[in-house]
Amino acid sequence: MVLKAEQPVGAYALLDQLKAERAGAAPPTVYRALDFLLEQGLIHRVESLNAYVGCVSAGEQHAHQFLICRDCGTTLELSDAGIEAALKAAAAREGFSALKMTVEIEGVCGNCQGA
Ligand SMILES: [Zn+2]
Ligand SMILES: [Zn+2]
Repeated sequence: MVLKAEQPVGAYALLDQLKAERAGAAPPTVYRALDFLLEQGLIHRVESLNAYVGCVSAGEQHAHQFLICRDCGTTLELSDAGIEAALKAAAAREGFSALKMTVEIEGVCGNCQGA
């Protein structure tokens, strides 16, 4: 499933995979499965792609940021606590308590630059 995918997978692609494995899988099943995987920290939602990727350090609490390649769609997960701390500090200076952060950087990956 999504845990093996190198590229983000949409909910409906996941649904197709579930259907292949289990007849009669309906969208609520997929969304329940996604909620469970998100809760367990096994996947992340990539907001700007409306898709999901497997987590590189599943199960551990960690900061995460995504590097999304415009050319091939590959999404790399960064886990840089410094970026998160800087954003939290910037928010705190405005008297804002940051609870959830989405850092998604669009660009061109090393492979595509070399091609
Ligand atoms: Zn992660
Ligand atoms: Zn690329």
